[in-house]
Amino acid sequence: MQDAYNVLKTYFGYDSFRTGQESLIRAVLSGRDALGIMPTGAGKSLCYQIPALIFPGLTLVVTPLISLMEDQTGSLRGRRIPARFINSAMPRSEREEVLTLAAKGALRLLYVSPERLASPRFLSYAENADISLLVVDEAHCISHWGREFRPSYRRIGDFAARLKTRPVILALTATATREVKEDIIGNLGLRAPFCLTTGFDRPNLFFTVQHPSDKWQALLGFLHKYKGSCGIVYCMTRRTVDALAKRLACRGIACRPYHAGLPEKVRRENQEDWLAGRVLLMVATNAFGMGIDKPDVRFVIHYNLPMDMENYYQEAGRAGRDGKPSECILLTNDKDLPVCRFFLDHPGELEDGGKIRKFHFLTARGPENTFRDYRLRKLRNMQRYAAGKTCLRQAMLTSFGEAAPAFCGKCSVCLRLPDPGLSARRVQPDTENAALHRELVALRKRLSKETGTPPWKIFSDRTLHDLALVRPTTLPDLLLMENAGLLRSLRFGRYFLDEIRAFVETH
Ligand code: ADP
Ligand code: MG
Repeated sequence: MQDAYNVLKTYFGYDSFRTGQESLIRAVLSGRDALGIMPTGAGKSLCYQIPALIFPGLTLVVTPLISLMEDQTGSLRGRRIPARFINSAMPRSEREEVLTLAAKGALRLLYVSPERLASPRFLSYAENADISLLVVDEAHCISHWGREFRPSYRRIGDFAARLKTRPVILALTATATREVKEDIIGNLGLRAPFCLTTGFDRPNLFFTVQHPSDKWQALLGFLHKYKGSCGIVYCMTRRTVDALAKRLACRGIACRPYHAGLPEKVRRENQEDWLAGRVLLMVATNAFGMGIDKPDVRFVIHYNLPMDMENYYQEAGRAGRDGKPSECILLTNDKDLPVCRFFLDHPGELEDGGKIRKFHFLTARGPENTFRDYRLRKLRNMQRYAAGKTCLRQAMLTSFGEAAPAFCGKCSVCLRLPDPGLSARRVQPDTENAALHRELVALRKRLSKETGTPPWKIFSDRTLHDLALVRPTTLPDLLLMENAGLLRSLRFGRYFLDEIRAFVETH
């Protein structure tokens, strides 16, 4: 592992590993297959880039997108690491050149698309090559269950079996569902893999759900709030993207559209303008963003209800990769659900849906209904989040099977932020909440001074937040609250209850 630390420092200039990286690297270096499930932005690439510099042979990275290969090899070569890619867009002579380099052992990493693995020329190289590590990035593409299903991903396992010596296989993805995980392990034929799932919480993201009857006005409001910052607006269909981009342009708001219906050249230019910061706003379908590592995205707005939590998490998670506070906003109303239902029955109509259309021919899982039911379940999950009745972070994390408290304090539900669509909600409760919260903090300070008890031993910050929100006025109510704690409640509770009662009466 000392080698790994040395490489981390000398080649990448980092001092420490992030959560999960070290144990994955350790497993891979020990020769064990591994599956890493880590959220977008967690730093999955490093988990193979470091072993690549330590193993004797080549590290072959299978990745779904050309732009991803270009980004990654570009940044590796900037760090003086010999890395190249092969894809169908480059001239044959260049492909030959790269293969010659690889055969000579002059490369540490080689990035290829899954389709490349089936090309006879590539096979003739690979079958006798010295490949230490085979990496399957964005490994959820293996799974029928995902929207990004890619048939050629299902042949990677066969490819690995044809090699002279079987390499260590490392699969990486941000998709955590059980079905996808099982698919990956089974299809790649991972041997007793080390499986690592890191937490999915992204503490710097603030989650907001609004139900505006007029989404356009709500959108303008958020764009005004984030004037001068970089962001993405995701729409369900190409048509909405085009219409919205036009409408924004008429308003003098600079943006670029992105969807699979635009010519390749336009898409590339738009993406580059946005990446380089020449334009701050991208209006896009889900075709945009996979593997994009732009650190300073301050907001991601969904203009329509996404079909499932995984996709929402991936797309919204493109905000705040630099760890700074950023907001993920979902604008949804009654009109969304019928549209989602339509796409449920006509997945081929959806952006990137072409991959799904082939599903029925490829799956051995049985009738088409299974898939529809599965997607319907996913949609219900998403609806629960969108309803905004409980803590959004909790709704999101529990849908990934992760335990989470009922109060995160960093979402529009916890802070009871006003929702223009829900008239039932009280006007500006957030400022009222904040006022009560301030008084409770002051009370805790006084008590701490008087009794010589450190503030956190009285009530934690979380508990104070909860108190301001839930506003218990009797001891039994207080005791029902999570985290309040019996002894502290008995000792200090009445002071807080008095304060809350007084506040409730005067407001
Ligand atoms: P993922 O593939 O999991 O979405 P990436 O591998 O693209 O994430 O990494 C996201 C960002 O985090 C990159 O800019 C990368 O340089 C940075 N990063 C990764 N590991 C570390 C680390 N140990 N310390 C600091 N930055 C890191
Ligand atoms: Mg990645």
